Amino acid sequence: MKAVGQVRKRGPLSRTAIAELLDTSRASVTSIVGNLMEMNVLTEVGHGKSDGGRRPRLLDINAGLGFIAGVDIGATSVDLALADFRGEILERRSDVADVRTAPDQLLNTINDMVSEMLNQHGADDSHLLGIGMGVPGPVHFPTGVLIRPPLMPAWEGFPIKDFLRDRFPNARPVVDNDVNIMALGEASVGGGVGLDNFFYIKIGTGIGCGIIVDGEIYRGSDGCAGDVGHICVDYNGPICHCGNAGCLEFMAAGPAMAEKARLAAKNGEGKLLAKALKDKDGQLTSVDVGEAAAAGDQAANKIIEESGRMIGGVLAGLVNFYNPKAIFIGGGVSNIGHQFLSTIRQATLRRATALSTRSLQIDYSKLGSDAGVHGAIWLAIENTFALA
Ligand SMILES: [Zn+2]
Repeated sequence: MKAVGQVRKRGPLSRTAIAELLDTSRASVTSIVGNLMEMNVLTEVGHGKSDGGRRPRLLDINAGLGFIAGVDIGATSVDLALADFRGEILERRSDVADVRTAPDQLLNTINDMVSEMLNQHGADDSHLLGIGMGVPGPVHFPTGVLIRPPLMPAWEGFPIKDFLRDRFPNARPVVDNDVNIMALGEASVGGGVGLDNFFYIKIGTGIGCGIIVDGEIYRGSDGCAGDVGHICVDYNGPICHCGNAGCLEFMAAGPAMAEKARLAAKNGEGKLLAKALKDKDGQLTSVDVGEAAAAGDQAANKIIEESGRMIGGVLAGLVNFYNPKAIFIGGGVSNIGHQFLSTIRQATLRRATALSTRSLQIDYSKLGSDAGVHGAIWLAIENTFALA
């Protein structure tokens, strides 16, 4: 629903302003708004400034219409939030979760948490009108079904939307890839507000890209646009789990950094890495590499720069191809400090063309680990209104 979308994005608007933004007649907007007010979707919230005549009445989304849940399932955790229809978060939860668990089991746990949040606000399951869910795998967007998800094979073909509808009969469920919802979160309340074209790159166990085109998420013809982790950075490189040689994520994401750090520690190349390896019982993460680098460990610095350069090199190609206004970097590896970001920036700017980088901004995500839930809520609200 475009009228609602404009109000959602810009805050209270007059009928005339909506007509101008949608490039349509005032009469048609009056009729659309009338219907939306009858459905309690829009409500009048006072008067705007006069431009000579009567002060126009302003319309806003009726926050009290019902509740929306946003769910971001990661490989090892789940983030949830309950929100009103303006996207204001009323309650936020996080818990550990293992996506290798059978889908009905994990979804039941999530549903129980959503019910608890509703109860805390004096509501029950019937008051939930929308639920947005991000999952770490390839999603066929129209059906919300995962297709060959490497991290969560038990979810292949599982009817997530039907399962959610059984529990929340009045809610419109929508399921998308986790990187897409993070990009939507950044677009709705993060660094991407007001930007029509940008990338959100998630760097964690894998590497994925959410693509915002003209203010909307771009999913491609089958829903898997942005799978940049399997772009080749070394034709003679090691074989990735996808079967190809030298994929970006296999060579530069969190596990690759952790493995290089482990080897450096074992070979006596990084004293601080060796100490971390000992302190952590032989288990290192990219965050340990970041900490060692910040404390001056040269081997850790080298690992970060290698990953940053490979990622920046691929980003340069994407920037040349697409010319985005900004790139926001999120995911677990974005917690390893500023050196990683500056290496990515330098590598991108060095390789991409001058015009495409003239006003390009490259930063960490403003929302951090909240990007997913904000995006899931935003997607659920848009999906609910799409029906109206
Ligand atoms: Zn691969």
